[in-house]
Amino acid sequence: MQIVVLAGGTGGARFLRGVRAASPEAEITAVVNTGDDVTLHGLRICPDLDTVVYTLGGGIDEERGWGRAGESWTVKDELAAYGADPSWFGLGDRDLATHLVRTRMLDAGYPLSAVTAALADRWQPGITVLPMSDERVETHVVVTDPEDGRRRAIHFQEWWVRHRAGLDPSAFVQVGVEQARPAPGVTEAFAAADAVLLAPSNPVVSIGTILGVPGLRDALLASPARIVGVSPIVGGAVVRGMADRCLPVLGIEVSAEGVGRHYGPRAEGGLLDAWLVAEDDAADVPGVDVQRVPLLMSSPEATTAMARTALDACA
Ligand code: GDP
Ligand code: CA
Repeated sequence: MQIVVLAGGTGGARFLRGVRAASPEAEITAVVNTGDDVTLHGLRICPDLDTVVYTLGGGIDEERGWGRAGESWTVKDELAAYGADPSWFGLGDRDLATHLVRTRMLDAGYPLSAVTAALADRWQPGITVLPMSDERVETHVVVTDPEDGRRRAIHFQEWWVRHRAGLDPSAFVQVGVEQARPAPGVTEAFAAADAVLLAPSNPVVSIGTILGVPGLRDALLASPARIVGVSPIVGGAVVRGMADRCLPVLGIEVSAEGVGRHYGPRAEGGLLDAWLVAEDDAADVPGVDVQRVPLLMSSPEATTAMARTALDACA
């Protein structure tokens, strides 16, 4: 059995852990968002790839949902003492080693997919982790500067981490996406898949960014497998994070129905064969097999059961 999962960071990584537990014999490939990637202090940082690899490899800080367990922050404090900007990004000492290895390999000419494989070699996540693309794609957010009332585009991380998504966004722009193509292995994975799952990740800046890579959406839709999506919206609200700040920018209602309709029925050029929503959520998505099931990843058992339901919906 071959399973492909489109994933962002925290929601994607937890869900992937459930898929691995639900189907231990399967070959699982995660196609991970890299639109959040950023260069800070000369280091290339790939937050969603790291969250997936740390989570499946047992190195994640479970409480925070990102970064390394047992982290310390000496380098961050020392950088701040020099007044070295930016100081708002959480760069932990252990995490820094990952960014150093990655940056050195990229500088030596290795593509991101090869670097990711090398980093995963240490963590043994038990799945194949692919970046959506080897080309650089960075999400920027168009905001209105409260100080001078002018519109400008800032990096997604500056909006998300520094401003905690507080500045009103008017658009998301994927800088570099026109030149991007799916990373090696992505198209092949879709073609060989028995099941394709959209993790309960941010529909705009995680799943939406992956699907924006030219050719990727067509490769996904050409898959012989059924495509099943899992709603990140439960009871009309996001479970974690600030996806509710992103959906309205694209005119998507913050509800399981709104996201399901945005993804749309596969028979009509959309993505979905089936859409999983939480038990208390009503969702009418014409042309899609909507299933109401428990959708909270509150324990490993609950997460595994949720992944099993998604895999069953692919059969
Ligand atoms: P990010 O890159 O760290 O923002 O993570 P993702 O894009 O992968 O996932 C973020 C989404 O995961 C948010 O929109 C949350 O609503 C969703 N999420 C987090 N925990 C759960 C959960 O237990 N159940 C469901 N259904 N969604 C969840
Ligand atoms: Ca992310």
